[in-house]
Amino acid sequence: MPLRFYNTLSQQVEDFKPQEGNLVRMYTCGPTVYDYAHIGNFRTFTFYDLLRRWLRARGYRLEHVMNITDVEDKIIRAALAQHKSLADYTATYEKAFLDDCEKLRLEHPEQMARATEHIDEMADAIRKLSEKGHTYTSDGSLYFRIAPFPEYGKLSHNDFSGMRAGARVDVDTYDKADARDFALWKAPKDGEPFWKTPIGPGRPGWHIECSVMAIRYLGETLDIHAGGVDLIFPHHENEIAQSVALTGKPFARYWLHAEFLLVDNQKMSKSLGNYYTLRDVLAQGYSPEAVRYLLASVPHHKQLNFTFEGLKSAKTSVERLRNFKLRLDKEKFPPGSNEQLSARAAAAETQFSESLDDDLNTAEALAAVFEYIREANTAMDGGEFREENTVAARAFIDRFDTIFDVLRPTTQNGSLSDVEVEAKIAARTQAKKARNFAEADRLRDELLQEGIILEDTKDGVRWKRK
Ligand SMILES: [Zn+2]
Repeated sequence: MPLRFYNTLSQQVEDFKPQEGNLVRMYTCGPTVYDYAHIGNFRTFTFYDLLRRWLRARGYRLEHVMNITDVEDKIIRAALAQHKSLADYTATYEKAFLDDCEKLRLEHPEQMARATEHIDEMADAIRKLSEKGHTYTSDGSLYFRIAPFPEYGKLSHNDFSGMRAGARVDVDTYDKADARDFALWKAPKDGEPFWKTPIGPGRPGWHIECSVMAIRYLGETLDIHAGGVDLIFPHHENEIAQSVALTGKPFARYWLHAEFLLVDNQKMSKSLGNYYTLRDVLAQGYSPEAVRYLLASVPHHKQLNFTFEGLKSAKTSVERLRNFKLRLDKEKFPPGSNEQLSARAAAAETQFSESLDDDLNTAEALAAVFEYIREANTAMDGGEFREENTVAARAFIDRFDTIFDVLRPTTQNGSLSDVEVEAKIAARTQAKKARNFAEADRLRDELLQEGIILEDTKDGVRWKRK
């Protein structure tokens, strides 16, 4: 079966085929850098990362662009309140966002585009839209007229035929299924930042930013456009209307959306006290890999219910994976090959790939991995796992990790590499031989502090990470 995605536009699962050979032109809506991003945002960003990695694993080449929204209603209000320039205010949160992405091992898109660095191009696009008769002016602001655009509502599958022509909205986000003409260019207000451009002084609205930067870097028709489900209306609907009005071409062929993240089955909100940034979660002692695993483990088309119980079991799953890898690396197996186990490894890898081809069904892919690990562990315990079986087992686990990327522990201050752990274990063994038990115990405690658990067996010392 080929790689396929659920396309919000057609409401169907479709085979994926880019326009040009194996090149995928992809645009994903990026962060608005007015605050620390929360775990719901990172659910969507982790989905982009998995999508990137799986497309590449399937032999595609990526041209992926993500915007950084650094001018927008909320940012302007917050910067004004703190008496900071827009650039000073957003720099803090852009850096925080990039640091958080790195912690979660989210790959960098080929191009990150800041809105404030593309103002002239946006003004130019708005001028073109005006020339084509798609805009009108009110109080110095320019609005996009949606009434003549018959396809409006095609992505969100809303029927806007009864909409009020001429109803306008100034804010960038509005969540009712209420179609309004939206601001492309906002007139300067007291104390607010603005740019001088050929279409007059002002600043761009949020929607035009994505259309302009997507077309600028990726051309008139994208292969994939992705975002969170909350962006389908109005943001993506507006992006389509502006882009099609500009170019006369379809804007994006596959629209992929990541569902909401709930916390304890409720919508995350500051007033409910269930609002978490990535930093909040990591501050409770969880590793970035556990968070990454949890966010990746639920397929993007399903809502993800975040709980600390779930995060604990994600941590346990990561440990099981690491311990299996450690067994492969450290244990001695009898020579030869167990053919039945070789066949199991091949079947598990096929199931893993087929699950990800199926609209990135990460839950099924992980089920294939754990089923295999369970059988392989049982075979190891019973002496049925042979030396040559390690090759296929390692290849499968490595393939898993090129997508999920959780095996390598994040090194914290003073945390030890495998080699350093082995060296300390050797020193402890020496101390025991010399009957220096105080020193041996001290080394064991020191390792425990670093999250390394020792187990003395008849074959020597086995160790694992907590
Ligand atoms: Zn966007």
